[in-house]
Amino acid sequence: MGLLDRLFGAGQETSAPPAPKYQHVKIHPQVDSGIAPTKDGFAGGTLTCKCQTDPVVVRVGAQTAHNHVCGCTKCWKPKGAIFSQVAVVGSDKVTVEQNADKLELVDASATIQRHACKGCGVHMYGRVEDAGHPFHGLDFVHTELSQERGWATPEFAAFVSSIIEAGVDPGRMFEIRGRLNEIGLPPYDCLSPALMDVIATHVAKSKGVLA
Ligand SMILES: [Zn+2]
Ligand SMILES: [Zn+2]
Repeated sequence: MGLLDRLFGAGQETSAPPAPKYQHVKIHPQVDSGIAPTKDGFAGGTLTCKCQTDPVVVRVGAQTAHNHVCGCTKCWKPKGAIFSQVAVVGSDKVTVEQNADKLELVDASATIQRHACKGCGVHMYGRVEDAGHPFHGLDFVHTELSQERGWATPEFAAFVSSIIEAGVDPGRMFEIRGRLNEIGLPPYDCLSPALMDVIATHVAKSKGVLA
């Protein structure tokens, strides 16, 4: 066996993947028992809040992007989950179809203007209204509120350290990051490198540092 083969694992294709070690760690219902695949050509669907009567219904008329699990304290999480799952889509693709009068703004001073149902508390969409913000024109949505299958799969974990601010024991962080790596969601303590680069590029251009 040559040096390169030894370094880069010749014959790896015949060995079984390592057994999961952190299956007992729960992240979010959408990723804990396998991640549903993205469907080619998927063109959106309908999000429904958790109210038994008169639910808020929001139409998302496109596939989402940059889906991820998020550990920040602002995103809506289903009961018991330590992470949210959230993706972005163009604001022009998001339409409130039913019971818009039940929506209220969670925090008018936040960058992401999250609109929550007054009945059940679920966030139906979060809009970036600041025209100078790199994410202006995007809405943040939770596609788990949809019955349709084929939404973009989560790709990474954002703001992982922030779960401590919500009360998670710091001593659990090793196994939590271990679980995220094991299920293919690389953990970051801010956003993913791709999104951090988008933000930095926007800032550099607005300051004239970059053309
Ligand atoms: Zn509701
Ligand atoms: Zn978040």
